Amino acid sequence: MLAVAAALTTAACAGAAATPAPRTPAPAPTSAAAPPPVVLLDPGHNGRNAAEPAAIRRLVPDGRGGEKACNTTGTATDAGYPEHAFAFDVAQRVAARLEAAGVRVVLTRTDDDGVGPCVDERGRAGEEAGAAAAVSIHADGAAPTASGFHVAYADPPLNPAQAGPAVELATALRDALRAGGFRDSDYIGRDGLSPRADLAGLNHATRPTVLVECANMRNPDEAAVVSSASGRDRYAAAIAAGVLGFLEREP
Ligand code: ZN
Repeated sequence: MLAVAAALTTAACAGAAATPAPRTPAPAPTSAAAPPPVVLLDPGHNGRNAAEPAAIRRLVPDGRGGEKACNTTGTATDAGYPEHAFAFDVAQRVAARLEAAGVRVVLTRTDDDGVGPCVDERGRAGEEAGAAAAVSIHADGAAPTASGFHVAYADPPLNPAQAGPAVELATALRDALRAGGFRDSDYIGRDGLSPRADLAGLNHATRPTVLVECANMRNPDEAAVVSSASGRDRYAAAIAAGVLGFLEREP
C-alpha cells in the first residue's frame, strides 16, 4: 500500500508540474489523505474442500431463512484443471491490479490449500473488511455446448446495498468483461447478468457484492482460456477494470 500511495503522489506531482505557470501553487500532498478504498475478493471454493467432505457439507444459514452446505468442491475442466485453482489465481491477479491502482484488497482466503470458508462467512466478509465492493470469483460447470460469463447478484434484495449498488457493480463488471472480449452467457441469466435468491454468499452481504462466473469450464474453447495464464490475466484485467469503474461512480 505504501508503495502505491507513493506512486499516486508522484503522479499527482508530475501532473501539477506540467501545468504552465499556475496562479497559485498546487496544494502540498497531505499526510491526512483519505484512506484507500477497500475491496474484498472471494476466490470460490478451496483446494482441500474435496478432502474434507464432512466439513464442507455442514449446514450454515443461507441468508433467507434456510440452510445451505458450508461450501462445495467446485467444478473443473475435462482435463482436470480445478475451479478453486482458477479462482485463486484470478483473484491474485485482480488484487495486484487493484493494489497498483491504490485500492486495499482483502481476500477471503490467502492460499489454495485449505478448507472453506463457509458461504455465510464469505458473505459477511465484505462488511467485516469495510469493503466498498466485494467480488466472488468462480467458473461454472455446465453442458459442453454452453458458454459465456454471467455476473450474479442477490435478488430479491434484502438490504440497501443489494437493492441498487450491487446491481451497479454487476453491470460494471458485465460491461468490463464485454470490453475485454468475453461473451455473455448463452445458457443462464440475461445480458450477462443473473439475479439469484439461492446464493448464500450474496444473501449475507451488506456491502455491494456480486459473484462472477467467468466461463463454463466444461466448454472446450473456454476451458482452454481459463487453463492459460494469459487467459486468466484477461479475466483479471476485466474484473479489476469493472471494480475500478464502480468505485469511481461512488460519491
Ligand atoms: Zn464455483
